[in-house]
Amino acid sequence: MTRHLARSSASLVAALLVSASLSAQTKIALRKNSFTPSQDVQLGRQAAAEVRQQLPMLNDSPTDALVETIGRRLVAAVPARLGQPAFRYSFDVVNLREINAFALPGGPMFLHRGMLQAARTDDEVAGVMAHELSHVVLRHGTLQAAKAQKFQIGAIAGQVLGAIVGGQKGAIIAQGSQIGLGTYFLKYSREYEREADLLGAQLMARAGYDPRQMANMFRTIQQQGGNSGPEFLSDHPDPGNRHDAIVREAASLKIAGAATTGPAFDSVRARLARMPAAPTTQQVARANQR
Ligand SMILES: [Zn+2]
Repeated sequence: MTRHLARSSASLVAALLVSASLSAQTKIALRKNSFTPSQDVQLGRQAAAEVRQQLPMLNDSPTDALVETIGRRLVAAVPARLGQPAFRYSFDVVNLREINAFALPGGPMFLHRGMLQAARTDDEVAGVMAHELSHVVLRHGTLQAAKAQKFQIGAIAGQVLGAIVGGQKGAIIAQGSQIGLGTYFLKYSREYEREADLLGAQLMARAGYDPRQMANMFRTIQQQGGNSGPEFLSDHPDPGNRHDAIVREAASLKIAGAATTGPAFDSVRARLARMPAAPTTQQVARANQR
């Protein structure tokens, strides 16, 4: 009897330990970065000015209001230990067809209209935004830029747009820049992807979104591949078992309330569908060349 009890209590302890390790959310910490937070802000601001000048901004109030609302909810969910008081977040929609999104150091985030139209729910939009926001918060852009042997802030900022517009396809704007330093801002390592997935899931739950929808959105992006999908995934490579890893993290998270941006998303989606089709990035790049 005693032995039996001892054995069952030992297995109970083992079971508790396993469930504790399964249910704890992953702790994500800031890495040591040779840039200062205010350099992140400066770099991102320069690059964002260039983006706004060269890419067609949608400038549609209801759409901007929606991404602003989702973005602010997510920013408010950033834990204090990771927050950067110097960062200035902004959320813009670019009138481009590809399913893409990108964020620059220090806070500026740009969502392609194609991304909003591919998403099925506001949770899926929040998933992409939470992932991008996590790269900003964790300062992955400048961490990667610091890996370059030599860097000059002006040189980096000047090449960011080439990295965005040139992409994998024509490198029309990026011509002559080969692998620009700016690509460090936008093409992340698998380790940073893993961190952005996990922190992104945590931010979603704290903001009232279902983190499993981030996993679904990545699957949608993958399925819609073809000519309009893979750009996002080439900048944000799968760290391995992406879908399962996000779902596992989600299982450890409690969703705080409900975000209530669903109705606004539905009306924005209908609105975007009624507009003339967005141009492709290539079309815009060619027009900029003239
Ligand atoms: Zn990423």
